[in-house]
Amino acid sequence: MALVNVHFLNLQNNYLFADIAKKVNAYKVMHPKADIISLGIGDVTQPLCPAVTEAMHKAVSELGTAEGFHGYGPEQGYAFLREAILKNDFLPRGIHLDIDEVFINDGAKSDTGNFQEILHWDNFIGVTDPIYPVYIDSNVMIGRCGTFEDGRWTNVVYMPCTAENGFVPQIPKDRHMDVIYLCYPNNPTGTVITKQELRKWVNYALKNDALILYDAAYQAYITDPDIPHSIYEIRGARKCAVEFRSYSKTAGFTGVRCGYTIVPKDLTVANLTFGREYSRSEELMQASLFSRSASSTEGERINVNKLWNRRQCTKFNGASYISQRAAEAIYTPEGKQQVKATIDYYMQNAHRLLEGLQQLGFECYGGRNAPYIWMKTPEGSSSWQFFEALLYGAQVVCTPGVGFGPSGEGYVRFTAFGSHETTEKALERISRWTR
Ligand SMILES: *Cc1c(COP(=O)(O)O)cnc(C)c1O
Repeated sequence: MALVNVHFLNLQNNYLFADIAKKVNAYKVMHPKADIISLGIGDVTQPLCPAVTEAMHKAVSELGTAEGFHGYGPEQGYAFLREAILKNDFLPRGIHLDIDEVFINDGAKSDTGNFQEILHWDNFIGVTDPIYPVYIDSNVMIGRCGTFEDGRWTNVVYMPCTAENGFVPQIPKDRHMDVIYLCYPNNPTGTVITKQELRKWVNYALKNDALILYDAAYQAYITDPDIPHSIYEIRGARKCAVEFRSYSKTAGFTGVRCGYTIVPKDLTVANLTFGREYSRSEELMQASLFSRSASSTEGERINVNKLWNRRQCTKFNGASYISQRAAEAIYTPEGKQQVKATIDYYMQNAHRLLEGLQQLGFECYGGRNAPYIWMKTPEGSSSWQFFEALLYGAQVVCTPGVGFGPSGEGYVRFTAFGSHETTEKALERISRWTR
């Protein structure tokens, strides 16, 4: 008898973007002629830059020749791309990494979702709230999150990020965390973290033997010179953090698929089952609050880089040669300039949206170092109520903040990934609607 993984049945069915599509479609049925502008889903719209498409054409032609053909590539990615990453993304920031610490993938979603599987099932995870849903859902699938009650998973530590605390997550004093997900610049709030704040997290992780999974998918949007692009700008981070990067938002690779993960060789995790069998009970859960970090230093330490490499070699056959050549091209002088031009284009939208919505009297956050505007809904209006009001009143689609977690209630997200024209038109409509 084939039995299902019951943890999958615990997943909350409401996939945010499917719900949004349903509501938008219902509106379209009633108003077939309506011209709807979407500032909802976080997908890019501008075409790939010429440096990238030229590299892809060249790679395709190569593959069609006897000398240039490539079959399976290294699971970790081609050296030409891994070297370009070290040289361009890290060395200029004073970060010296080894080529074996770079793992090329088919986008950051895969690795942010997969990484948890090399960790014991009863780690306590901590997340900033609201967050990118992949972090929690991938842990739900393996049975790590407990049960879903009142919009929250019982075994997940939620750290609210709201206007009240300036979107700065506070480290809880009464709950222990083993694995912490951080995403900066943040999706969905568009806010960033200072070096000083990030240092607090690294120090927490070092002190408590915790692991930080740092998602830097939007680092290319940082304009403020003091904001860290990588967690490895913080001393000690190599001992406690993994970093995820993606070319999706950086260079419009949402359809091409390529990204990478940094797993430092200095990173180790405890092996609690070493020496004794470990099973979850209320007592142990309580005990682990106090004793786990102490006991973990005694057991065997496991090298995470080796373990991740083993996992990848078994389950992943590498990103395509064409995607990796495409990614390499963004590090050429032309590539860098062209990619920057597209990012600047989106950031002009972000600035326009931020300024325009603020002029209309809305309270807005983000939009300065990230392509997202996080807007407080007017007094008394929930995320979904505002979403519907905006759809019916202005034919503009935003994303209800509550879809990203309980602390997202009372906010909506606008993306800067549209064209200048649609962004401008959306603002005009919102302006007319509010008058
Ligand atoms: C878009 C996004 C990613 C990247 O996903 P890809 O799989 O690389 O396309 C990762 N993390 C966050 C928070 C994102 O918004």
